[in-house]
Amino acid sequence: MLIDSYGRTATDLRVSLTDRCNLRCSYCMPAEGLDWLPRPELLTDDELVRLIALAVTRLGITAVRFTGGEPLLRRGLPVVIEHVAALRPRPEISLTTNGIGLERLAGPLRAAGLDRVNVSLDTLSAEVFVQLTRRDRLADVLAGLAGAAETGLAPVKVNAVLMRGVNDSEAPALLRFCLARGYQLRFIEQMPLDAQHGWRREQMVTADEILTALRAEFCLTPADPAERGSAPAEKFLVDGGPETVGVIGSVTRPFCGACDRVRLTADGQLRNCLFARDESDLRTPLRAGASDDELAARWERCVAAKLPGHGINEIGFLQPARPMSAIGG
Ligand code: SAM
Ligand code: SF4
Repeated sequence: MLIDSYGRTATDLRVSLTDRCNLRCSYCMPAEGLDWLPRPELLTDDELVRLIALAVTRLGITAVRFTGGEPLLRRGLPVVIEHVAALRPRPEISLTTNGIGLERLAGPLRAAGLDRVNVSLDTLSAEVFVQLTRRDRLADVLAGLAGAAETGLAPVKVNAVLMRGVNDSEAPALLRFCLARGYQLRFIEQMPLDAQHGWRREQMVTADEILTALRAEFCLTPADPAERGSAPAEKFLVDGGPETVGVIGSVTRPFCGACDRVRLTADGQLRNCLFARDESDLRTPLRAGASDDELAARWERCVAAKLPGHGINEIGFLQPARPMSAIGG
């Protein structure tokens, strides 16, 4: 088991498959992109599968989420999913994606064993989409979402980040859009994880502001908190339910005390927190022929050293060197 010194157990593994992306969301990446990780440093599909198998069969991981960068850009994704789906006990397998290409890939990925998908969608306006992501791809994202739903990847969840003065007036419209299609919408507070270090607390649209905007159109009542468990989203019943909307107040309503996550980057570094400043290198020992016992011990030590919280609200907080796109959100 992966237990830290505060008694939390990591059971949810986030695997970043690439740091590359076909969008340039302003809260994540600069317009010019980044210096991508050199290919030889990326874990191969076989290396990825070995580490995930170790985590699932020996370390108590019960859920695996693929992310990035944009995970659909990784050619081997269906094969990796197929191998992970064959593990026993079989973990739940999910994907966080910007949705571009999902229209075509949803079927093959589901056939390979993918259970669920989260698609990021911050706006319903093609113009605002270009402003936010610096690419004209809204139609592809919407097609991807529809493709996921048609394929039966249920529930389809939608992640939205609101940016002040850009898309912050769209909260009710996004909720209406998702309710009409049976997608589960969650708003995420913008976090200080962009490569260009442009996050400003006073610019962030807070969970309170998001809820106020939604309440102008909908009646929101808190869902049973007992059902939340370690989920980061606070859920609200919309107009009495059963539909819900989630708000992930990572900054103003931190949920670190219930965190059950651990992260593996595309270049084989383990992180015990999105905001960790230290990483544990698994790639070097893996390539040097380390045994499963040695790799498992490293993994356990990494999780054991997890800090109690992300520290964003403390004086002296330092943003991690690695940006969100290279950590895996
Ligand atoms: N490219 C995929 C996508 O956009 O869904 C997967 C990776 S992306 C880093 C994962 C999630 O992180 C997305 O929902 C995105 O909106 C969110 N995200 C990125 N940067 C963020 C930030 N600075 N604060 C909050 N959420 C962020
Ligand atoms: Fe790409 Fe996702 Fe970052 Fe947007 S949030 S730039 S889609 S990795």
